[in-house]
Amino acid sequence: MCFRETVSKVPVILREHFARALLVFSLCHLVSGYSDRDRADELMSKYPLIDGHNDLALKLRMLYNNSLNQIDLNNVSKAATDISRLRTGHVQTQMFAAYVLCGAQQKDAVRLTLEQLDVIRHMCTENQDFELVTTAQGLIDSNMRNKIACLISIEGGHSIDSSLPALRMFYQLGVRSMSLTHSCNTPWAESSSKLYNTFLKRESSLTHFGKAVVDEMNRLGMIVDLSHTSWGTASAVLNYSKAPVIFSHSSSFSICNHSRNVPDELLLKLKKNEGLIMVNLYSPFIACSNKANISNVADHFDHIKRVIGAESIGIGGDFDGAESFPQGLEDVSKYPAIIQELLRRNWTENELAGVLRKNFLRVFEEVENVRDQLILRKPSEEYIPLEHVQNTCRWVFRRPDFSSKAEQRSLNLLVLTLVLLLSSLFWTD
Ligand SMILES: [Zn+2]
Repeated sequence: MCFRETVSKVPVILREHFARALLVFSLCHLVSGYSDRDRADELMSKYPLIDGHNDLALKLRMLYNNSLNQIDLNNVSKAATDISRLRTGHVQTQMFAAYVLCGAQQKDAVRLTLEQLDVIRHMCTENQDFELVTTAQGLIDSNMRNKIACLISIEGGHSIDSSLPALRMFYQLGVRSMSLTHSCNTPWAESSSKLYNTFLKRESSLTHFGKAVVDEMNRLGMIVDLSHTSWGTASAVLNYSKAPVIFSHSSSFSICNHSRNVPDELLLKLKKNEGLIMVNLYSPFIACSNKANISNVADHFDHIKRVIGAESIGIGGDFDGAESFPQGLEDVSKYPAIIQELLRRNWTENELAGVLRKNFLRVFEEVENVRDQLILRKPSEEYIPLEHVQNTCRWVFRRPDFSSKAEQRSLNLLVLTLVLLLSSLFWTD
C-alpha cells in the first residue's frame, strides 16, 4: 500500500487538524526563530555594548605600521574590527588596548606605548563615528550622540617602566585602565604566563611598589585590570584595592582550565570587591581548543552567573588580539549571537542590560567615586628600588659630585703655579 492510499484512508477531519497543527508549528518556529534574533537586536539597540578589550591598534601597527592613511576604517578587511561591523554588532563603547610586546620591557616600551596611544587617539579623534571618552558620563553622552566611544587601556604594566610619573602622564593622555601585567612579570607584579622568567617572585605577588601602583591608579581614577596577572597577584590586588577592579578579557577556569581564566575562589573575591569579569571569546579560553561554538561561550556566562551573579559579568571580546574565535563569533559584528543564545537560556532583559552596559558603567562610576574620595591625596613620590629593575639602560640622575674633582683640580693648579714660579726664579738667577 502506498503512502497516498494510507493518507486517503485517514478521516478528512483529522487530516485538516494535522495540516492546521503543522501550519501553526511552522509559523511558530519561523516567528520564534526570527524573534530571538530580533529580540537580541532590539535589546542591544536599547543597551548597546561596552566591550572591555580590543586589539585593533596592534593590528594597525603590525599590518600598516600605524599609517591610518593607508586604510578606510569603515572597512578593514584584514582585521576583525572596523566601524561598519562595530555598528552592526551594536558596540557603542570599545576599550582599545595600547599594547606593546613584552620583549620591549626594559627597552623602549614607553616610546612604543606612546606611539600606540597616538594611533588610537588619531583614530578616535579624526573620525566622525568615533569619540574619545575619558569618563563614565562621557560614555552615556556619546551614546546620546550616536557615537562609538573609545576608551583607552594599556595592556601590561611593563608599559610604565616601573615609573609612577609615567603612569600619571599616560592618564593625562586619556588612559583609563591598565592591566598590571601581560605575558611577562614586571618587577612588581606577576603574570599568569610562564613565557618569560625575568622578575620572579620577590617578597610577594604584589610588591611594595606594586601596591603603590594600585594606590596611584585608585587616586587617579584609572581602572585596575587583572586579566593576564597571576592568581596570586589578582588575589593580592583584590584584597588591597580601594576601588572595584575588572578582568577586561578573561573567562571561567571551571569551564576551561586555562591559566588566563579566573577560578571560582577569585570570582568570589571579585564579587566582594564589586568588580567585573568581562568574558573573553578566544576559543582556547572558551573551550580549551581552537574549536568552539556559541553554546560553549554561553556556558561561561551561565557558570559565572551561578557563582557570583549576572551583575558581575561583562563582555571583553579580545578581537584582533587573538586569531581563533568560536563559530558564529568571528568578528565584532557578531555580538548579537551571544545575546540571542543567552535569551534562549532564559536570561532576563535586566540581567542582559547589565552584561551589555550597566555593570561596566557602575564599576567605572565607582572608580571615579573613589578618586573623588582621595582628592586630598598628593601624587605618590614612591620610586622602585634600583636593585629591583636591574636595568643598565636605566639612567639614574644624581647631583654631580663636583667637590672632590674640583679640589683635585685646584690642587693641581696650585702645584703648577708653584713650579712655574720657582723655575722662573731659578731662570732669573
Ligand atoms: Zn590580552
